[in-house]
Amino acid sequence: MKILVAVKRTVDPNVKVRIKADGSDVDIGAAKMSMNPFDEIAVEEAVRLKETGVATEIVAVSVGPAASQDSLRHALAMGVDRAILIDTTQVLDSLAVAKLLRAVAEREKPDLLLLGKQAIDDDAAQTGPMLAALLHVGQAVAASKIQIQDKQITVIREVDGGQETLTLPLPALVTTDLRLNEPRYVKLPNLMLARKKPVETLTPAELGLEVAARVIKLKVAEPPSRKAGVVVKTVDELIDRLRNEAKVLP
Ligand code: AMP
Repeated sequence: MKILVAVKRTVDPNVKVRIKADGSDVDIGAAKMSMNPFDEIAVEEAVRLKETGVATEIVAVSVGPAASQDSLRHALAMGVDRAILIDTTQVLDSLAVAKLLRAVAEREKPDLLLLGKQAIDDDAAQTGPMLAALLHVGQAVAASKIQIQDKQITVIREVDGGQETLTLPLPALVTTDLRLNEPRYVKLPNLMLARKKPVETLTPAELGLEVAARVIKLKVAEPPSRKAGVVVKTVDELIDRLRNEAKVLP
């Protein structure tokens, strides 16, 4: 069984991003970058499926500038077999990325596509569903457990108020939730070895695609700052404040 994992290079989750002075975007010029945390979970799951003999080959793919190789090399160090960079400096939206990933999927013909539930930079949570639709394969998003048996995948997914269990025929696309696993710590020697592994580089044109974003970011703004909270001493005081100050109770 072959797995294709999509990995995006995003700002490190521990970095506190600032908005550019003109409000056009966030300023990540000098920020530390990492593999999107949900994609790290996707890579970990793929590697575990290979370690347990369910998967035979894992291919990681990233769309972005040359620096996205860092995330691909991290994936290689975690245990991925091959890495593909779709090299572009264009600003892309989810549909454009999904189209590029579809082109790679059509070449690679994976049995399972693993993506993150969302990328922590744009929080779009769209690429997985769009890619599944473009490929006409079933999808299960926000997976917290997966099991593969007899060319079928059973996915427990996190939904509002509980969990849902789905069974899909392979090929299928699954996006990862935080509870799926805890990614392994990558040791330095593995990272050094991964630096020497080849990363296949393709351009959108080589995939026969000219992609452009249809969604344009107009403005980025800080959320309004919240007032400090109040610690109430009794339930009666809480009800009184909700009724007379917040005016949310009759
Ligand atoms: P999004 O729809 O942007 O929230 O991203 C959801 C998931 O799609 C991510 O967790 C990745 O697995 C995948 N993805 C999004 N953008 C890229 C990209 N530029 N390169 C590779 N994978 C991506």
